[in-house]
Formats: sequence, structure tokens, C-alpha cells
Amino acid sequence: MRQFSYLTAFICCLGILGCTQDESTTPTKTDAASLAPDVSWPLHGLDAGETRYSELGDINQETVAELGVAWTYELGSNRGVETTPIVIDGIMYATAPWSVVHAIDAATGKALWRFDPEVPRQWGRWACCDVVNRGVAVWQDRLFFGTLDGRLVALDRHNGKKVWEVQTTPRDKPYTITGAPRIADGKVIIGNGGAEYGVRGFVTAYAVTTGEQVWRFYTVPGDPSKPLEHPDLELALPTWSGQWWQAGGGGTAWDSMAYDPELKLIYVGTGNGSPWSRYARSPGGGDNLFLSSIIALDVETGRLRWHYQTTPGDNWDYTATQHILLTDLTINGEMRKILLQAPKNGFLYAIDRVTGELISATQYVNLNWASHVDLETGRPVETGDANYSGKLKKVIPGPPGGHNWQPMSYSQNTQLLYLPAHDTGMWYSRNGQFEYDPATWNLGVKFDDEVAAHDAADPAEFRGHLIAWDPVARKPRWQKRFAGHWNGGLLSTAGGLVFQGTADGHFTAYRDSDGEELWQTRSTSGFFAPPVTYRSGGEQYVAIAAGIGGGGMGNKVEGAMINEYHNEGRIIAFKLGGNAPMPVSQKRDLDFPELPEITASADQVAQGKELYRTYCGWCHNSSMLLPDLRYLAKEKHAMFKEIVIDGAFLELGMPRFDDVLNAEDTRAIQAYVLEQAVLLRAEPEA
Ligand code: CA
Repeated sequence: MRQFSYLTAFICCLGILGCTQDESTTPTKTDAASLAPDVSWPLHGLDAGETRYSELGDINQETVAELGVAWTYELGSNRGVETTPIVIDGIMYATAPWSVVHAIDAATGKALWRFDPEVPRQWGRWACCDVVNRGVAVWQDRLFFGTLDGRLVALDRHNGKKVWEVQTTPRDKPYTITGAPRIADGKVIIGNGGAEYGVRGFVTAYAVTTGEQVWRFYTVPGDPSKPLEHPDLELALPTWSGQWWQAGGGGTAWDSMAYDPELKLIYVGTGNGSPWSRYARSPGGGDNLFLSSIIALDVETGRLRWHYQTTPGDNWDYTATQHILLTDLTINGEMRKILLQAPKNGFLYAIDRVTGELISATQYVNLNWASHVDLETGRPVETGDANYSGKLKKVIPGPPGGHNWQPMSYSQNTQLLYLPAHDTGMWYSRNGQFEYDPATWNLGVKFDDEVAAHDAADPAEFRGHLIAWDPVARKPRWQKRFAGHWNGGLLSTAGGLVFQGTADGHFTAYRDSDGEELWQTRSTSGFFAPPVTYRSGGEQYVAIAAGIGGGGMGNKVEGAMINEYHNEGRIIAFKLGGNAPMPVSQKRDLDFPELPEITASADQVAQGKELYRTYCGWCHNSSMLLPDLRYLAKEKHAMFKEIVIDGAFLELGMPRFDDVLNAEDTRAIQAYVLEQAVLLRAEPEA
């Protein structure tokens, strides 16, 4: 009870909830269970510091064995689900693919309202990593969310009616929004993505009441012949060379933010360069500020207070958009206000969030690109393995990083940081002929037969971990390993539990102190989203969204049930004594369909392979999240051109490519697909 009051007081002091109107402390039922007050999940990371540690302990190490399904809510989606639901006043607000918002009774799973912002399906072309959305923000009666096509929408959270909407990005550029907005100091703050397609990153604050822009912070400088938008860019401009602005420069703030209401600082993580390769982006070198950085902005003015660049001159897609988590730690006998981040580059950083001083940087996964971070200079010391200017190099971690967007959790119970990490790597080959093309990924690195041959001969290790990390001792206390590398975000609770879902469909509760598995269930779908917990009607629930996709869309996990079942998106809520059935998705038809007879020359097939790599292969792969084209039926082959060129399946999410492909290209792609289909029949994959 005291802990709950602390949490409520903390939220109230942020001015985020109207405390006089906060009914979350009022039991809504009069039965015995309702003696306990209801508890919300009011903010994206539960609290402003985004610790994702809940004070709830009804579900605990002793009782967790009784956990069962309370209810299931069907999102009606078949793409990646990455939502962190917000729960307030017994109502859950969750987002689904294509930025659709669902309001659900948090105790029963009953649908209350649904809002579809009608994102043009063609916009899926600009989403590097699926048409995902990571959640909404709520302030008083308003609900805010970003749409894939760059809008920020405010709804009345009681009925789902639109209050206002602003276009936050230039509509003629390949920007996307997948991240959740955050509320701070009467403003709603939102970033964007798109660095793979060529955009310039920025983060914007709007007035919660009107949607009027208050400030905007560009994370990289634009065309130097034009005036700087804000003085902080004077620091960044000399760190760039060449004509970076033509491909936007990147540095997109597509996910992480955290807020310290006392310091009035909003912390934002920025992404990789556009293109990935600095050789192509900034040929004269330079740090390329503020790529791959943590920036601390004054929430009132949007001006820079401090910055820390995790990967100077990023050359490897090493974003620092990963979860930013604020907590206080006693280091060398002194209590410090800390910011923790484990960005893609494989080092876990502890930074003084008042001053930006680097306190420690510790390797948390396999890496070879740097030997260590020099604490004097704050810079990583790169090894020869990182330099692919003249020769193909295997760089560890690869573009998925040592950790991606999946949130961590810091437990007050154990003082441990729970980190969903992975070992990854990639062969990097410099593309000396890089030219900016907004119709496809702009990387400045090659994916060709030479790279594929190296990868086949010496593949990088891909492996998932759950690491219980001691941020003071700077070492793991315990660790779990998974078959698939790309897994779900984390939740820890005062019940002494850590919850995580995995790509292979398991949802597990671990003892927080030693990782002992205390409860587990299995779904036909895989989990990437982070779980949340709340109390409604006197009972504690743990809820998690199912549905694979996102940046993990290329990964087929051996043994996962999703390989045999359709990717139906849903939210599953659990409670003690819950006895609803575990939902089961529809089975996939994995029989080989009859193939059409098409004659093509070897040249056509080779041309088709190139085009397939450029425009098709990222989405259409063996993970079967989106159709594996080797299983394409004869009727669909008959309309191949209509699908690819004319957008016959646009409303199903398949964009049209008539701006870059002609009928002849389409035939070449089809010939390549058929060749692959025949190969698969001759030699089925394990
Ligand atoms: Ca990226």
C-alpha cells in the first residue's frame, strides 16, 4: 500500500495524471478481492524514468504457478506487434500494426472502441522494419499516438474520437513513425524513423492541448548553404563532410525517450547514419554529430543540455535508439542520478544524467569492432575488424546490434537490470559506387554473392540472451540463452518475478534473483512485445501482445510454432486462477502448390535475383511472416505483374512498385522466384 502511494505520488508530481480525477485508486467492485486498490500502467515505461518495474506483488514467486489466461483480445492483424499497452481507469489502450488503436476493458478483454487512422498501405514501402507501432501516451482525457505516415493524432480516450491531428514530417520524404509519443511538461514529444531510406532525424514537442508546435530539435545538420535551424547544430556541423544532406544524414529518434521531471530534461536516443556507411555519407570522416547519441534536451526550450555519442562516425548501423532507463545508483559510495543504455554497439553505458559524464561502459555481448571505451575521452577504441574501407570484414555486432528496441527492466527488488540482448554479426562490404535512391535501402554496403559466400563459409553467431545485469558490479548475475536471437521486452515486479516472451512462443516468469523458471506457457504465435502488469477490479493481471515481425521479420526460429501457424496478432492477459483457453491461431497450409510453366533465360533469372534482393527479399523471406514466394499459388503467379506493378493486393499490405519496376523486371523476378521454388521442392529446408 505504501509502495503504491509512492508510485501514485510520483506520477502526480509529474503532472501527468490529473490526480484529483485519478480513479485508479478507487476499487470498482465490492467483492473481497477488491480490497486491493486498482493500479495503472500510466506511462510507456510505467514511470517517467521508464524502469518497467511494478510494485505489484499479488502474482509472486509463491503464487505464479496459479497463473492462467484471463482473457484474449484479437487485434485482427498479421504483422509485427510491438505495443506496450497503457492501462488507466481499468481501460487498456494498445496499438496494432498500421497504427490502429484499440481500447479494451482491462479486466474482461471486451472491446470498447477502435480507431483506424487509415494509413495509406503504400506507406509500408518506407518502413524498414515492418508496419509496427510501439504504443500510445495518455494525458488526462486525451490519448496520443503516431501514425506510420508521420502524423501525431490526439483522441478523446473515452470514445476514440479525434480531437486534433498534425503532420509531423515532410509528406514527400520516406519518414515513418513507429515509436510511442511521451508526455512531459505539458508537451507531447515525438520522433520518427526512416534513415534506411534517406531522411534527416528530428524530434518535436507539441502542446498537449492544441497540437501547436513548441520546439523541434534536428539531430543532424541539413544543407549547409541554408541557415541552421537551431544553435546546437553549430556543434554538429564541423563534424560532417561531403554532401551528407542529400541522403538526409539520418540520426532518427525512432524509439527511446525518458524524462526526469526534477531536472526538466528529456533524454532522446538517436539512430544510425543515412546511409549506414560513413565512407559514403561523410567521406572526409568526422564524428557526424548527433548520430548514435543520447541527447539531453531542456524540455521547455528543446535546447541541448548535453550529449553523449556512443558510436562516433557510425559506420555499422549502430543506433543509440535503444531503451533509455533512469535510476539512482550508489557508485563508489556516492548516490548518483544515472542513465542506463545498452545501444546496438555492444557496450552498456552508465552516464550521470545531470551532467552527461560517462561513468562506465562495459561490454555486454560478443563484439569485435572496438576493444573498449576509453573513459578519459569517452570514445570507443576501434579495432581493425571495424574498418571495411578496403576489405570485406566480419563485424560484431551486426546491424541488429547487441540489443534492439525491446525494453529492459530495472528491478528495485534486486537492483538488477534485465536486458534482452543478442549476439549478431555481419560481413560488411563497402559499396564504392553508392548513389542515393529513395526507392530502396541506402546503406553504402553491399549484399552480393561475395558477401553471401563469406557468410556461408564463416557465419556470424545469432543467439538471444536474457541477461540479469548488475549495473554497479558491471557483470551479469545470471543469464538465459534462446534458440532465436530476436525476443521480447522485459517486465520485473515486486513479486520477485521477471517476465519475458520469446520468438518461439514461450512466455516465462523467472525468479528475479537467480533466473529459476517458475512458470511458463506457450503460444502458437511468437512474442516481441514487452509485458505489462496492472490491477483492475482488485486483481493483478499480466498482459502481453503476440505477433511476430518488426526488425525480427527475417528470422525463422527452428521449432517455433509460428512456423506452422498464421501470425494472428492478439493480446493475452493472465491472472491467478485464470482458466480461459490459450488461443490457437489457424494452421498454415505448407503443401507445395502447383507451379506454372514459365520459360526464362539464365540472364533473366540473374537479373531477377538482383531485383529481388533490392526490392523484395527483406519482407518476403523464409520466416513466412509475409508470404514466402516459393509457396506462391498458380493463381497468384498468373497475376504477378498486377500485384507488383498495379497494386492488386495493396489493401492487403503489398505496395505497388510501378515507380521502379517495369513488366520485364517483374517477369525476371518471377522467373527467379520460380527457380527458387523448384530448388526448395528438390531440397526442402529443415
Ligand atoms: Ca537502422
